[in-house]
Amino acid sequence: MRGEEPVVVEALKVRALPEGSCDRLLEFLRLYRDAVQSVVDRIWSLDVKLSKKKLHRLFYSDLISVGFRAHHAKEVYVYAKSLVESARGNGGRKPMLRRLSTRIDKYDYKLDLDSMTLTLKLHSNYEVRLRLVTSRERVEKFQGWSNYELVVKYDGKSFWVSIYFRRIVRQLEPRTVMSIDLNFDNVTLAIFTLSGRPLRLKRFKTPHRRILTHRIWIERIQGRYPRSWRFIKGIRGAIERHGEGIKNISWDYAHKLGDSIAGLALKHHSIIVLEDLEKLRENGKRGREFNKRLGLWFYRRVQFCVEYEARERGLEVVKVNPRGTSSRCPRCGGRLIECGHRVLRCRRCGFTGDRDVTATINIYRRYVSKHPRCGVPGVAPNAPKPDEDPSGMRGNRDEAMTISTYMNSYES
Ligand SMILES: [Zn+2]
Repeated sequence: MRGEEPVVVEALKVRALPEGSCDRLLEFLRLYRDAVQSVVDRIWSLDVKLSKKKLHRLFYSDLISVGFRAHHAKEVYVYAKSLVESARGNGGRKPMLRRLSTRIDKYDYKLDLDSMTLTLKLHSNYEVRLRLVTSRERVEKFQGWSNYELVVKYDGKSFWVSIYFRRIVRQLEPRTVMSIDLNFDNVTLAIFTLSGRPLRLKRFKTPHRRILTHRIWIERIQGRYPRSWRFIKGIRGAIERHGEGIKNISWDYAHKLGDSIAGLALKHHSIIVLEDLEKLRENGKRGREFNKRLGLWFYRRVQFCVEYEARERGLEVVKVNPRGTSSRCPRCGGRLIECGHRVLRCRRCGFTGDRDVTATINIYRRYVSKHPRCGVPGVAPNAPKPDEDPSGMRGNRDEAMTISTYMNSYES
């Protein structure tokens, strides 16, 4: 992605209340659905690949004659074509549309974030104004973004709109590298200068205990009613509540962590280096350990939020193969053995160090080995500044000191 302008896309999904009668809007949604269906029917029977030009020639004037605007017509046949293609692609049957849902081009609506209203241009020159039912704070975020398309849905009771926004972010020139190591009970990050000097070390606790408590409850209930838990409403409800609990804890955590990591990275203009979780599967031992303790989904969620928050701030995120990052000696490449509480030791050269800190160094080095513009050897590393805000990190100062000892060994 280097060299391209990175774009952030986000959807604002809110309930919308039509001012006055909603008859015209419902009429439009039905008309739209039926129009898509009839185009689907025709394309399906034709059984040839159609270009946009061909689609336009075949359907445009018919759609206009029903009262659609030019961009409505385009949306209708483009959408119909994509439905047919995806149904054919996976060997399915002809798509049948039931739901009332339409895509509306940016030329066919007017959005006013100040008054939180949306004006839709419907068929036959009708217009409808909708009030967005949400908090001002949620909308405020999108001031200054560009909106390009929206989807209106009717679920039988209410109207919902999803408005898509995008924004180009200016990419920052990196000045440091931040490597992040995810573990079941903590997230450890280290920041290095481009010349390899360690600047900062920080560790965050994960909510693994709270998640595990819910998981244990679920297993306990399922164990007690092995056959019936799916069918008894009260029991299924209890399980769902624990599942909901896990979901809330992990999203909440991931968002907050993503935000504070990206904030720190922005302060230091860091490139963020993460482990490539897809490669973790092949990585026998560690993969199993990850799964047993929390599940890969948790790490994916955390990474997703870190990446998102970072990109939004114009920071670059790269992923490296995690193979061996917590089992290889950062000094000599020898195999590390576990010796007591999270401490690793190299049998070949005698190096000893905290497991997570060792992993961040290895992740950093892996990145540097692929991107030789940084990590110029021969710069004497100084002790990094101990963290001002330990945020649940034990032995912070000590670890900050030891990281420089590890780094010293690079030069040997
Ligand atoms: Zn060694």
